[in-house]
Amino acid sequence: MSRIDLHTHTYFSDGSYSPTELVESANQLGIDILSITDHDTTDGLNEAIEATTNLPLELIPGIELSAQFHNREMHILGYFIDLTDRQFQTRLEALRSTRSVRIRDILARLQTLGIDVSLTEVEAASGTGTIGRPHIAQVLIAKNYVKNMKEAFEQFLGSRGKAYVQREVPDAQEIIRWITDAGGIPVLAHPYWEGFNKEDSAKACQTLVEQGLQGLEVFYGTFSARHISFNLGLARRFDLLMTGGSDFHGALKPDIALGKGKGSLHVPTKVVEKLRIAAGR
Ligand SMILES: [Zn+2]
Ligand SMILES: [Zn+2]
Repeated sequence: MSRIDLHTHTYFSDGSYSPTELVESANQLGIDILSITDHDTTDGLNEAIEATTNLPLELIPGIELSAQFHNREMHILGYFIDLTDRQFQTRLEALRSTRSVRIRDILARLQTLGIDVSLTEVEAASGTGTIGRPHIAQVLIAKNYVKNMKEAFEQFLGSRGKAYVQREVPDAQEIIRWITDAGGIPVLAHPYWEGFNKEDSAKACQTLVEQGLQGLEVFYGTFSARHISFNLGLARRFDLLMTGGSDFHGALKPDIALGKGKGSLHVPTKVVEKLRIAAGR
């Protein structure tokens, strides 16, 4: 039986580990198959692939992209993408630029609330990686405006927060196409179906499948057994591939453990076998 984690982040997006540190930690924990799925970038993957040399661990190239669906933002994972695909990289650059616009808008809102966070400070927090709201949160914590990440999102940065700004991202259909164009498998990440009843979520799933979605992240770091079985039902009903992962972010989400999530993550080996067949690997 393999130990598998197909959803992790490095400091190339909003994780705290370098790709090398992540690969080495995964290997020490006995993880056999790992995917790094940074937001809007594949820049950490070459270092990660390098780090697996001489290790028994297999690395599946991945990414996590934000998309618009029925006025909500959802995340779509892409597995086995071709990292050298020029068109895909150009598309990612455009997507990353929408992040900077949003960060500036959020900082302006914070300013009107009397909270002083500069772009330079947020950029310093993000280091070399894709900039995101967690980096604003880090500055808010460092400057004692909030106690922790949770408070930063509840009070200011989350969808109900006082400084929230929605990001303009492409439709799910387009994001799915980007991943498929780059030879990857598009998978709906952490399907929470908040505000959707059973039939709504099935209808949403049906629409996404018609748009080219191929998989569902059935197993996830924080899902209950009931939630997993609901997603399992959807995956079977729509003949979708299944994936699973912790959504590890290192120090930025300290309650989520690599390979384990909140403790009970288990991704069956056959899930990866099917994914590999679908990708032709
Ligand atoms: Zn996500
Ligand atoms: Zn993620």
